[in-house]
Amino acid sequence: MGNIVAIVGRPNVGKSTLFNRLIGTRQAIVNEEAGTTRDRQYGKVEWGGREFSLVDTGGWVVNSEDVFEEEINKQVGIAIEEADLILFVVDVLNGITDLDVEVAEILRRCKKPVIVVSNKADNFEMHAAAAEFYSFGLGDPYCISAINGSGTGDLLDKIIASLPQDTPDVLEEDLPRLAVIGRPNAGKSSLINAFIGEDRHIVTDIAGTTRDSIYTKYNKFGLNFYLVDTAGIRKKGKVNEDLEYYSVIRSIRAIENSDVCILMLDATRGIESQDMNIFSLVQKNKKGLVVCVNKWDLVEDKSQKVITSYTNAIRERLAPFTDFPILFISALTKQRILKVLETAKEVYNNRKKRISTAKLNEVMLPIIENYPPPAWKGKYIKIKYITQLPAGSIPSFVFFCNLPQWIKEPYKRFLENKIRENWDFTGTPINIFIREK
Ligand code: GDP
Ligand code: GDP
Repeated sequence: MGNIVAIVGRPNVGKSTLFNRLIGTRQAIVNEEAGTTRDRQYGKVEWGGREFSLVDTGGWVVNSEDVFEEEINKQVGIAIEEADLILFVVDVLNGITDLDVEVAEILRRCKKPVIVVSNKADNFEMHAAAAEFYSFGLGDPYCISAINGSGTGDLLDKIIASLPQDTPDVLEEDLPRLAVIGRPNAGKSSLINAFIGEDRHIVTDIAGTTRDSIYTKYNKFGLNFYLVDTAGIRKKGKVNEDLEYYSVIRSIRAIENSDVCILMLDATRGIESQDMNIFSLVQKNKKGLVVCVNKWDLVEDKSQKVITSYTNAIRERLAPFTDFPILFISALTKQRILKVLETAKEVYNNRKKRISTAKLNEVMLPIIENYPPPAWKGKYIKIKYITQLPAGSIPSFVFFCNLPQWIKEPYKRFLENKIRENWDFTGTPINIFIREK
């Protein structure tokens, strides 16, 4: 189970600077593919052998000095509900403002761990000034400078030490964990109701040790699966649903804890940035994907031509990952509901698919021979041998080669496409690694 750390605070205290600084720590280690513009609000941080998700809730709020108190309160409320730890960022150059006091009051009442981050402590003189933040009653302020990075290592140590211990999932091995995700009103609750009915045939209820139950096991239509609870569905109506950050932060945990995500799109609306942001969470977490174009009952022209144009539009928007199933469904009339579950199960199986080394080499080596990697400075680049790594979260293939550093992205994509053409990996990302032999 992943942990979520949320950054809160009034505008201009340096939340997004801190976010970039902490995410940057990781980017040095892991190469992130370029994503959508809003990606900066969500990312993963690795530190001291642990990993957590970092969310800048401020990124969604209008960032001006006269931001409504109400907005800040909502932002903090969601962070308290959804995060495992809260970074309360304040500005030591400016000192305490009324808004800070208000946020502190909310945070004092919550049961989640809070770290007061005294930002803009660019030099040691500023450290003394941070003492005023003791008055929040939220413990020792951590002095940092998000801009020059000082203090952020200690802060990361403190974050790791304050996070709840990772508890291994106590789930039966072989069942898919499905998350139904999508923006508000796409039809998530309707789909879940269509799956499990009002009677809710619950087989077992497994409680996470640190938070409420996340997985519920179902047996429906002869299929066994876990539904990952999206708190946003259960507690619907409690908070203003049309706030984007609300639906996104609520999706994060569900996505992280799933194997396959069922992304609901509303057929009566195009793909909007919010859909893209949720999709990008799926991608960043390398999860399986089934796209459902819901409310198909409302679309009058259901001709193949219209289906094709929908399909193309979706794949175009979600490129370069395009090898996933798209279903046209109606949660309301239960049209193709069973197909959704069956397809999710197939994607789950594709994630666990193993291709024997013999078969891989038999099929791939001739393809590579016909279309070898481009030579480099007159040197032939030769792929000698291919194997799939044993167990891992997603299928991973290793191509052994004499000069691995000269195999570039386009050729790796070519290899991935050929693997996808020859074996069914629909709906799941795959890794292509090039190693020296
Ligand atoms: P946010 O609104 O809380 O996300 O704040 P930003 O990250 O956008 O930062 C607001 C302003 O404070 C920007 O001009 C930053 O360059 C500046 N800032 C952020 N961190 C620091 C810091 O550690 N020291 C100083 N001196 N300025 C900072
Ligand atoms: P959620 O916010 O994603 O959980 O969306 P809901 O399941 O609450 O659905 C939002 C609205 O869309 C409700 O009024 C549903 O009745 C309606 N709705 C959901 N699925 C369908 C569908 O397949 N067809 C039609 N016509 N309406 C739907």
